Amino acid sequence: MQLSLASQNGQSAAEAGLSSSPLCIRGLTVSYGEKPAVFSVDMTVVAGQMTAIIGPNGAGKSTLLKAALGIVPPLSGRVQVFGRPLDHQRARIAYVPQRASVDWDFPTRVIDVVMMGLYRDLGLLGRIRGSHRQIARDCLDRVGMHEFSERQIGQLSGGQQQRVFLARALAQGADLYLLDEPFAGVDAATEKAIISVLKDLRAEGKTVVAVHHDLATVRDYFDNVFLINTRKVAEGPVDEAFTAETLQAAYGGRLATAQVDQIATTA
Ligand code: ADP
Ligand code: MG
Repeated sequence: MQLSLASQNGQSAAEAGLSSSPLCIRGLTVSYGEKPAVFSVDMTVVAGQMTAIIGPNGAGKSTLLKAALGIVPPLSGRVQVFGRPLDHQRARIAYVPQRASVDWDFPTRVIDVVMMGLYRDLGLLGRIRGSHRQIARDCLDRVGMHEFSERQIGQLSGGQQQRVFLARALAQGADLYLLDEPFAGVDAATEKAIISVLKDLRAEGKTVVAVHHDLATVRDYFDNVFLINTRKVAEGPVDEAFTAETLQAAYGGRLATAQVDQIATTA
């Protein structure tokens, strides 16, 4: 269908594919100081699939997500979300930040954290109705945290907090989900709960992009990989782009050869 639309518009099929991607990044360079954290990166996320962003510490993975969300300004490059500039599409993106980056010392109930996902719908001063509470409760249910809705978020374990942040993202009803290391430091039950929710989102046609650090589960969890080490190293379906060569290129000497052989296909 895209092909016929493209020819009608006089566009090339490749251009049409690019413009309809949930997240299309071109020539992105981000720098906090003199040395770029992300350099001249192109990325085209495939709709309705799960993509892992993979690379060593300091490779620019979090920076790439933050630039995609407009949280950090790029030095150059452009970001399109579902074929339109980011500013028009913010409501369609949900973001679960790296857990360590949020400090929850102040008292906030779990249900209120999830309702933050509804603020775009509510408006900041909008009245919270029973229906909003019900949406928030349903989202907590989906991540197996419904019993904790009245608890203080600061009193939960790291894994439980992570599930609550995912529930907040679900409440937003977004089409594109960006998650920064959702499985880092969580218990096995939480990992199972999160991956099952992400696979459900995919089954609903949503698009999931997650920074992922556990190379052993990439094949199991994801359809595509995006390997980065400041520059893009590889991008594509797991079977093609997650290989011994691309891993070696992304991690350099930081992964043992035996480890790489075990994890990746040697196509
Ligand atoms: P990753 O998520 O892959 O570990 P990051 O995107 O967090 O990598 O960081 C990429 C590089 O940018 C690192 O060298 C990091 O030290 C640097 N960096 C990240 N955030 C900041 C910041 N707010 N200020 C200065 N440097 C930063
Ligand atoms: Mg990071």
